[in-house]
Amino acid sequence: MKILVFNCGSSSLKYQLIDMENENVIAKGLCERIGIDGSKLTHQPEGKDKFVLEQPMPNHTVAISLVMEALQDADHGVITNTDEISAIGHRVLHGGMVYSDSVVVNDDVKRVIRECFDLGPLHNPANLMGIEACEEAMPGKPNVAVWDTAFGMAMPEKAYMYAIPHEYFEKYSIRRYGFHGTSHMFVSGEAIKFGGLDPENAKVIVCHLGNGASVSASIGGKCVDTSMGLTPLEGLIMGTRSGDVDPAVVQFIANKENMDVNEVLNVLNKKSGVLGMTNGISSDFRDIENAAKEGNHLAEVALDAFVYRVAKYVGAYTAAMNGVDAIAFTAGVGENDKATRKKVCEYLGYLGVKIDDAANDVRGKRTVISAPDSKVKVMLIPTNEELAIARETLRLVK
Ligand code: ADP
Repeated sequence: MKILVFNCGSSSLKYQLIDMENENVIAKGLCERIGIDGSKLTHQPEGKDKFVLEQPMPNHTVAISLVMEALQDADHGVITNTDEISAIGHRVLHGGMVYSDSVVVNDDVKRVIRECFDLGPLHNPANLMGIEACEEAMPGKPNVAVWDTAFGMAMPEKAYMYAIPHEYFEKYSIRRYGFHGTSHMFVSGEAIKFGGLDPENAKVIVCHLGNGASVSASIGGKCVDTSMGLTPLEGLIMGTRSGDVDPAVVQFIANKENMDVNEVLNVLNKKSGVLGMTNGISSDFRDIENAAKEGNHLAEVALDAFVYRVAKYVGAYTAAMNGVDAIAFTAGVGENDKATRKKVCEYLGYLGVKIDDAANDVRGKRTVISAPDSKVKVMLIPTNEELAIARETLRLVK
């Protein structure tokens, strides 16, 4: 059984075709600059040469039809026709308070995606376009929505309620939702399996450290707390996002810089994080590390602050769960940067965390990086959101 996975962003689209017999990726690719000049499709079939197509893609419907052509092409294709595809799984950012689990798309589901445009203004419209384009390209095939917010829906009220007037929760569903849910679900599940932990009761903290970054706490795979909130702005310091700040900062900047609230939020989302802290060196952690190595003070502070905040969240979530059995690092920084992993763990000596430096000298490979006598198992678990979406899709259409 083959499952096609789509992750549609506002101007991009990533896809993978996965053979669920062996979970092999048969082809994957990316459409960039959808709706803007210079649209480009990069298609990588397994065992064949890469195919690149530069052609206008005014919208996601056109992009998806080009992907379908590439998948069926005589030279660089991997299937003879779409009958070989059993179902399509879509990453959908926001399911509001309606969906705490993946679901086969019907009109009600599409209505909810539309109702959540306010909550996910960049992603939900693109996600819906992707679904509708697949309905058009492959009529009758099941489409499954896998929500980025689903994992966080298990949080208890004490974790998801903001201490603001309750009427705003009632009127507008303002609460903490959490994001990167598919990654947190996948990595916490893999950590339980790989670490040989009790699937019902294991207390796991996942540090998803990429350009976007978040931490989650879960017991037996059910989310107890997670660091992103109503939007992905809350929590850790990220590539360009500030993470937690005193909300009064918004008013202060607005008054001093003569900006409105939307403009300040744009600064906090796109011009802050390690990019902003270093006066614009980069949002890429490798560039910040290089600058720090050359002695740039702002880069050193940005890295220290990033690690410090991850460690504070791990401490808070250990308290939230009254203990922790395993800590898993994942995503770009978490999978590739042994120095960040080590520095986070150095804050956690009081929990009996001990890193094994030789084991930690690894990239992108499932590994236990703690010493055998560490009281908490620390692991590197590569995330794989596409595979997680494909597994969810299979579960629902089987
Ligand atoms: P996202 O999916 O949120 O865009 P990723 O999970 O792909 O992000 O992570 C991207 C980040 O990972 C970039 O900031 C990049 O610098 C960082 N990264 C990748 N490799 C390394 C490395 N070897 N050392 C430090 N950071 C790295």
